[in-house]
Amino acid sequence: MTIPDKAIDAVIVGAGFGGMYAVHRLRSMGLSVHAFEAADDVGGTWWWNCYPGARCDVESLDYCYAFDEALLHEWKWSERFATQAEVLRYANHVADRYGLRDNFTFNARVNGCIWDEDAHLWTVTTESGDRVRARFLIAATGCLSKPHRPDLPGLDDFAGNVLFTQAWPKEGYDLAGKRVGVIGTGSSGIQSIPEIARRAAHLTVFQRTANFTLPAVNRPIFPEYEAEIRADYLGHRRTILQNKAATVKQTIAESAFDLSDEEREAAYEDKWQRGGAGGIPVLFADSLTNPASNEEAANFVRRKIAEIVEDPETAESLTPRDHPIATKRICLDTDYYATFNRPNVTLVDLKKTPIERVSAGAIITANAEYPLDVLVFATGFDAMTGPLRAMNVRGSGGQALEQVWADGPRTWLGLMVAGFPNLFTVTGPGSPSVIVNMIAAIEQHVNWIADLIAHMRETGQTRAEPQEQAQEEWVDEVRRVAETTLYPLARSWYNGDNIDGKPRMFMAWLGGYPVYAQRCDEIAAAGYAGLELTA
Ligand code: NAP
Repeated sequence: MTIPDKAIDAVIVGAGFGGMYAVHRLRSMGLSVHAFEAADDVGGTWWWNCYPGARCDVESLDYCYAFDEALLHEWKWSERFATQAEVLRYANHVADRYGLRDNFTFNARVNGCIWDEDAHLWTVTTESGDRVRARFLIAATGCLSKPHRPDLPGLDDFAGNVLFTQAWPKEGYDLAGKRVGVIGTGSSGIQSIPEIARRAAHLTVFQRTANFTLPAVNRPIFPEYEAEIRADYLGHRRTILQNKAATVKQTIAESAFDLSDEEREAAYEDKWQRGGAGGIPVLFADSLTNPASNEEAANFVRRKIAEIVEDPETAESLTPRDHPIATKRICLDTDYYATFNRPNVTLVDLKKTPIERVSAGAIITANAEYPLDVLVFATGFDAMTGPLRAMNVRGSGGQALEQVWADGPRTWLGLMVAGFPNLFTVTGPGSPSVIVNMIAAIEQHVNWIADLIAHMRETGQTRAEPQEQAQEEWVDEVRRVAETTLYPLARSWYNGDNIDGKPRMFMAWLGGYPVYAQRCDEIAAAGYAGLELTA
């Protein structure tokens, strides 16, 4: 699309599910809209993360837009947990159906956003030299889109291929006959490791922290279940939005100790066999607040690891003992632990023998050398704040977002930032975002933003900024809720722990989707209490 010369209503950054829906929603209100995307097409995280084994870990029937009932019904998912390729096909279908590409410039990474206090306009520029002025800036940049790529000593000397799960080659990569090393055992590593092991001559997994993972039990969707949902899809959606994670409720009791030892064990076993989003820790409401309850779930999984992994030393290295289960994002896998029984797979426990350096053909640890043709980094992201900071946002008085957030992100509802008028952060830090069904969170945020913009147009306002006081209260509430849980006990990207120098702060709202959405609705109903609206 040609970039408009004159100021428009809204500029949107990102062509993931957030940006796509923002374009659709604002355009259908009659707003002039332009959007930028760094990739060459739509899909966001599902465009980039096309590594072998990449799969959604929210059930497909719930991981989709609900803004248009016809769209809900016409799209048919083939599996319980859709592959990356299928989710990307869905994103393309949505883009085609609503003509969303018409408003996008692709291959355009935003590198500057400057607020003009006199005109009440944002000027947004891209690395490719595009420039647009707009009343509203909507950052739909995703929570996990800025990769973290550790700089290992000697990495530049490595003569083989270096791959990143987050930017896997679009054309695929033939691993046959290759000696592959994978660094990282978060969701991306845990999903890709079994697939890489099947394809490569040899796989060496370099694990720094053992992680909890649970069987996804992926399969075709049960037709009776699908029929039941499709009989009243919007009703189903309304029901799941009443649940904390905005997915199907799986909690069977308030406390793990409401059941006898035998009953609890049977419940864990049943969940292990059935799989599903959230897994074992979602069975009891107190799993993430009561250390003893959490330990029951963790011990069940530890026993499973010991049963599945044949070599006791490998099993022990794979057994997480340094954080409560699910306080680092829980992983769902297919055959992860069993992969370590394969003769072509080696686990290197970096806690025992850290990486010293990379040479032309190997990774060298404290006591061994592992020859490699390919090195895969599954080392995560500068989560939540990274993508927003990377846009070089300058607000009132020229203040820089990265400086204002030097001690951690401060937002109002995870949606807006004091000092940065008319900037909206879709699933921003301080909102439920990564803790809940992301598409539901996205729709709720975009709808709220759209309603506020409609309200401003009706009342002739051109500038919206959260009051400092309201923002501080929200930041404090997010922190207090997090402190009632076990989440802060883990060193995780939720807390910013994975990035050197990043301030430690729990970055998501843990009070659940319904409470959050209700709060947003109440604020809107009260005439946007907490916001300074001016003309
Ligand atoms: P991650 O969870 O942050 O995991 C990164 C891994 O790399 C960790 O095991 C980390 O070890 C390791 N690592 C980082 N730097 C290292 C270094 N210098 N040396 C050795 N190891 C290093 O990242 P991710 O796996 O990409 O997942 C991020 C998030 O994306 C997930 O939590 C999830 O929310 C989302 N995701 C979702 C799906 C899905 O829906 N199916 C799939 C993939 C990702 P430490 O633990 O010791 O730091």
